[in-house]
Parts: sequence; structure tokens; C-alpha cells
Amino acid sequence: MQTNLAASPYSPRRSHELAGKGAVVTGSTSGIGLAIVHSFATAGMSIMLNGFGDETEIEAMRSEIETRYGVRAAYSAADMAKPDEIETMINAATDRFGTVDVLVNNAGIFHVAAIETMPPKRWDDTIAVNLSSAFHAVRSVLPGMKARGWGRIINVASALGLVGAPNCAAYAASKHGIAGFTKSVALEAAIHGVTVNAICPGYVRTPLLARDIEEAARTRGVPREAVERDLLAESQPTKRFVDPAEIGSLAAFLCSEGAASITGAALPIDGGWTAR
Ligand code: NAD
Repeated sequence: MQTNLAASPYSPRRSHELAGKGAVVTGSTSGIGLAIVHSFATAGMSIMLNGFGDETEIEAMRSEIETRYGVRAAYSAADMAKPDEIETMINAATDRFGTVDVLVNNAGIFHVAAIETMPPKRWDDTIAVNLSSAFHAVRSVLPGMKARGWGRIINVASALGLVGAPNCAAYAASKHGIAGFTKSVALEAAIHGVTVNAICPGYVRTPLLARDIEEAARTRGVPREAVERDLLAESQPTKRFVDPAEIGSLAAFLCSEGAASITGAALPIDGGWTAR
């Protein structure tokens, strides 16, 4: 688990307009979510972390964010597949920070399988964690955001929220679903000063992708680097992984006043993948 991410070179400054805003970032104990937390903390936001992992490591991560950035950081172990736990997490963030001004629906799972071999339980889990969780979290936070006339909702989708890929039906369905959800909620919230956007990353080297790459390397009997090279050659014209800090940076920008008119968008950050 990564705990020592350097503040992004693109990160906003500490005296930023976002200082003191309350944020919930789901699935933030690793990967992209953790990078978003670092970017938000750099801007001085109070942050509720969420996700699975070793209790001691998560506590070290939480307290490191508080001491390093001088912000408030809390943690909720809510399982994003469970609506009642999602509500409890949002209530805990509201109690701790006063308001939830920013919500990032980032928790996600990825299971690669041909449609005939996809276990129905994996399908249901993918839809629950990657899609339905966003509905449950948004329905909890949106009334407060509307009443205050300001809010930012960011849904972490994927390049596979814009295009399909073989053996990714459940994941692509969940990510296309979140893109449609984003547009509809954006239209409902637009008049209330609340923006709702989806970020669509290409390949990012995180534990979620690493598991799949290692499995492919084992099956093909080739080194991990060969699988990575092929993935990038096939999909990502920049031929490099997207850096999680770049996504943190985009998320912080979407929270800023400079992004007040960006709403209902599905923004690719994919090294050109979906430009083809
Ligand atoms: P990751 O595995 O590093 O992080 C996933 C996070 O979600 C972890 O904190 C994990 O504990 C948490 N999580 C998983 N199931 C959960 C549940 N039921 N309840 C609460 N938390 C849960 O993966 P990542 O790559 O950082 O993925 C973050 C998001 O980015 C996901 O939505 C993923 O689909 C999306 N994404 C990733 C890539 C990529 O290449 N890595 C590309 C596009 C989109």
C-alpha cells in the first residue's frame, strides 16, 4: 500500500479556495483514490478516506495526511456494496466536517472474463460497487449541496465508460452506466451550483490493474513488462501509464471555481486511447 505519494507538481496551493471544504473520497486506501486525497489535502480540504486494507496501514496513512498537510482526515470502512454503510459514512463525514461539499465516487473493482464465463455474482458485485454505490452516495449528499448552493461530484469512470473491450462487459457496463448517471444528475443539479462530472482514465498502474497484468503474464508465460508493453501499444498512444497524480490534479481542478461551468462531462485522461 502506498503512503508516500509526493504532492503532485500540478496540485493547487494550500491557500486555495477549497481550504476547509469537506470531501469524501471512496476507495481511497490505494491507487487513484489515494492520489486524489493527496491532491485535495494539498488544497487544504478535510477528507474522509474509505476503502479496504490493513487497519494499521490505513491509520498510518490517515495520520500522515493530517500531519503532512495540516488538514483533518477521517476514515470509514464502509463497504460500498452496502447502501446502509454508505449512508453511515456520509453521516460520519457530515458530523466530523460540518458539510460534505465534495464527493468522489472512486471505489471500483475489475473482473476480466468472457461473458459465458463471468460468474453472475461477479457481475452483481461489479454493478453494486462501480455503479449503484454512486447512486446511494449522491442521494445522501445532494440535498445538502443544493441547499448550500455549492457542490462538486466527481465519478471515476474509465476509458471503458466511453468504449467497449472484449472480456470487460460487466466493467464497461458499470462505467458506461456511471457516465449516463453523471449526465442526468448534472442536469438536475446544474441550477443549484453543483457540478457533476465523470473522469475517464486509461491504464493507470495501480493494484486493480496489476492483478490483471500479473494473471495475463502467468497465463501467457511472459514477463509482466511484456504484458504492460502490449497493453500500452494496443490502447494508449502516449505509450505510458497515466500517473495517478495527474488524475488527482484533474479532480482538484474540477472542484475549483475555474471549473464551475464544466458539468455533465465525461473527461478522458487516457493518453489518447479514445481519440481513435
Ligand atoms: P485500486 O485497487 O488501487 O483501488 C480501489 C479502491 O477501492 C481501494 O481503496 C479498495 O479498497 C476500494 N474498494 C474496492 N471495493 C470496495 C468496496 N466494496 N467498498 C469500499 N471500497 C472498495 O484501483 P484503482 O485503479 O485506483 O481504481 C480506482 C478507480 O479507478 C476504480 O473505479 C477503477 O475502475 C478506476 N479506473 C482504474 C483504471 C486503472 O487502470 N487502474 C483505469 C480506469 C479507471
